[in-house]
Amino acid sequence: MSPSTSALWHPFADMGAVESSPLVIDRAEGVTVWDEDGRAYLDATAALWFANLGHGRAELADVAADQIRKLDAYSTFGDYGNRPAFELADRLAGLFPEAGAKVFLTSGGGDSIDTAAKIARASWYHRGQPERVHLISRTHGYHGTHGFGTAIAGIPANLGGFGPQAPDASVVPHDDVAALEQEILRVGPERVAAFFCEPVIGAGGVHLPPEGYIEAAVAVCRKYGVLFIADCVICAFGRLGTWLGIDRWPVVPDLVTMAKGINGGVVPLGAVLVRDEVAAPFFPGSPGAPVLRHGATYAGHPVAARVALSALDIYEREGLIARGRALEGVLADAVAPLAGHELVGDVRAGLGLLSGIDLGPAVLEALPGAPAIWQMGCREAGVLVRPLGRGVAVSPPLTVQEQDIARIGDALHAGLEKVA
Ligand code: PLP
Repeated sequence: MSPSTSALWHPFADMGAVESSPLVIDRAEGVTVWDEDGRAYLDATAALWFANLGHGRAELADVAADQIRKLDAYSTFGDYGNRPAFELADRLAGLFPEAGAKVFLTSGGGDSIDTAAKIARASWYHRGQPERVHLISRTHGYHGTHGFGTAIAGIPANLGGFGPQAPDASVVPHDDVAALEQEILRVGPERVAAFFCEPVIGAGGVHLPPEGYIEAAVAVCRKYGVLFIADCVICAFGRLGTWLGIDRWPVVPDLVTMAKGINGGVVPLGAVLVRDEVAAPFFPGSPGAPVLRHGATYAGHPVAARVALSALDIYEREGLIARGRALEGVLADAVAPLAGHELVGDVRAGLGLLSGIDLGPAVLEALPGAPAIWQMGCREAGVLVRPLGRGVAVSPPLTVQEQDIARIGDALHAGLEKVA
């Protein structure tokens, strides 16, 4: 692999290390990606949890090209609109568990988070409770790297070096509803705008909610009028075997943030679904409504929206949403034997097509870089996994076959030899 001569600054990267040995991905097809030297890898990460449809969908390339020829770009600010944006919003609203949801289109996950935080605060403001500004999130939670997303980070390392964050936010233990209630009471319910919750925490290391946690957290939020924001940027579009992710549980969220799998990750796009009563101040049915002074240039981009409509067709046609659930046991079985390995501390899987596997404390103490070494070991075995926190995570495309999942398990075992 030749050293990089590029000015590209990689996100979340030790550029001192990356500059000398980048892995240059050249092409991709299905669940396989190839580097520039022609070496093939099984993509056990779906890129960054987003290539849910598998790579190289000609259908998406075709609709993108057609849309670019017809209407390449236009904004949806003010009274401008375009058909793909309208259609996509209506289709996404139809996925919400209650009628009347509104949809704000964004450029990606972090944009969805900041949009949701601002909609939550603005909704309270216009519903006569302007003091409701505080945001609560969970340990290990990852909500992107924009302003609000950084302020509510549940991964302490992601706050390092950036100076003080917005003060009106706090973090509670991810698996403890009593702690959530105590925090709401400590802050004062009349000051809390919203609680951000990834149904299954992804980038923070794949943490599954304890049995009953989601229902109880929603109930506590309702009790104190706190908006429940389901951050489904990873969990939606089949990752948990359902459309939204949060709809795996019998609850009604107030807002749902999404991105990634919304169009297979082919064009940057995100969305926020907003429950009717939260959006209501902005939709009074007659002119003179409060204006949400928020939105990005690419909100409702016709190409991104058009590709998303086709992606939703593919999810439906190929039954891929349910496949996330059908394969969760297969993945859990493939990673379960790792629990017996002397270097492994914890194996988490069984809810959705994703898994996190931690190294044991002794290994991490002796070798803090062990997750990255494990990742490299898997790479040598021809499988791309993601180093995260105390170990690695896997989240293959929903099109993955059972034998591919077995290969992921084998590569994780083989990769551990590098750590030993
Ligand atoms: N929320 C969650 C749960 C995520 O996993 C991510 C990204 O991984 C984000 C928000 C941020 O999305 P993006 O990277 O598109 O800004």
